[in-house]
Amino acid sequence: NRRFLLVRRPRGYPVEEDFSLIASDIPSPPKGGFVVRNHFASLDPAQRGWMDDEESYLPPIALDDPVRATTIGMVHASDHPSFPVGQWVMGLNALEDFSVVVPGGFTMPIDAAAVASPSHYLSALGAVGLTAYFGLVEAARPKAGETLLVSGAAGAVGSAVGQIGKILGCRVIGIAGGAEKCRRLLDDYGFDAAIDYKGKDHAALVEAIAQAAPEGADIVFENVGGHVLEAEVFNLARHARIILCGLISEYNAASREGLRNLWQILARCATIHGFLISDYVDRFPEGATQMAQWLADGRLRVDEDIQYGLENAYSAFMRLFTGENTGKLILRIV
Ligand code: NDP
Repeated sequence: NRRFLLVRRPRGYPVEEDFSLIASDIPSPPKGGFVVRNHFASLDPAQRGWMDDEESYLPPIALDDPVRATTIGMVHASDHPSFPVGQWVMGLNALEDFSVVVPGGFTMPIDAAAVASPSHYLSALGAVGLTAYFGLVEAARPKAGETLLVSGAAGAVGSAVGQIGKILGCRVIGIAGGAEKCRRLLDDYGFDAAIDYKGKDHAALVEAIAQAAPEGADIVFENVGGHVLEAEVFNLARHARIILCGLISEYNAASREGLRNLWQILARCATIHGFLISDYVDRFPEGATQMAQWLADGRLRVDEDIQYGLENAYSAFMRLFTGENTGKLILRIV
């Protein structure tokens, strides 16, 4: 049983020495629990936050514990009648070959036969797709004709947000890094306009957004923070809603600076709405049904960036912070 451990808290960008891949025996199921053979693991920006010793919505990953991750796998050994051997499951486990699930642990059965690949439960039908769905539909409540500005737009959450915005009749503008990602926003995901934030200083980014959204953005779906958010707040429509979904530009920063120019929020009577997908767990089936329908109708495109092998967990994870990932980043374990 190979396990990818956090052995030191990263300072800034994680380095390989912060982790260690060890081998141990395959565990046995605890009384009333079971053991999962992990096949796919979700690699998420949030994992970087869990590596810090900081107050958050989940406790920090303990040192010498495997890196916490949502995984998809098959029950390998079981002492739980509802989770027989061979059942596909999804749960909050770790980057390891085998995970022990104790009674009451967060794991649910999934219908692997209903999808082309079980990995879809980590992308379109998983937390990422549902973050886009509930973050936009419920937190932002878009109306047809509104202008939606999405940062991190070519990523897993952002690309789904933009496409859902189009389905709901919004004019959608995406901000992403590099010409190729901007091309994909327009050609692959059907955005109305795309802005490359790379190489642009504050004034140039403010201007580029102003050109794409002359009336200002009614909704900002924020995945990035930092200087991208600072430029966005100068382009708000009156009563704009900013959905604060993620702040990836800050996850490896030595210190958190906070948003300057808060005056722009006041001046536009705007709202900042902190959003966490965990608030919507009870409504996952409803969101997943809608996402599955849009997928089946060809109205939603979902890309997965599948990397292989627990031994490559570090380099795979870092793709999120170099911008190399092309879609939902997933580690295939077996
Ligand atoms: P993505 O697939 O979007 O991958 C991360 C992308 O972020 C990279 O490809 C890169 O794109 C961009 N990025 C990385 N570093 C920087 C930087 N310093 N400045 C600007 N952009 C950067 O990841 P996800 O879709 O999984 O996550 C997107 C966001 O959503 C994250 O902030 C995450 O924390 C958040 N999230 C929040 C949830 C919630 O419940 N609130 C749930 C799930 C995700 P580029 O090349 O364009 O720079």
